[in-house]
Amino acid sequence: MKSRVPFRQGLFEEADGEGTLLGARCRQCGQIIFPRRETCLNCLGKDLEPVRLSRHGQLYSYTIVHMPSEHFPPPYAIGWIELAEGIRVFSQIRGWQESPLKTGRDMRLTIEKLWEEADREVTGYVFRPAGKGGAG
Ligand SMILES: [Zn+2]
Repeated sequence: MKSRVPFRQGLFEEADGEGTLLGARCRQCGQIIFPRRETCLNCLGKDLEPVRLSRHGQLYSYTIVHMPSEHFPPPYAIGWIELAEGIRVFSQIRGWQESPLKTGRDMRLTIEKLWEEADREVTGYVFRPAGKGGAG
């Protein structure tokens, strides 16, 4: 069995088959940011606390990409998902062939294999259409 490694450390965690994005909240102005940083993007404050972001959001905008990329055969979808916290997260989108995308549509976070390397699977966060007509 191949080991699973995240494509980048500190962006998300995976437990019991559920994924969670790791963000931060500024104690000074309340701004939520993702990914975590040392400095608040809103007030430049440095007093940030770690928070876990919601797994659901709404599709804000998306693009179907027809150009090949290093790891993803075309066509694949990318877009911005607006979370309940009010921030937008850029993500790959899957499940759109079975369940057409529309802005405003409910999306849910999953952690999935992005690509394989010699002896490991590289995982990342992905959003899929949620609910009716989606994969769950
Ligand atoms: Zn702030």
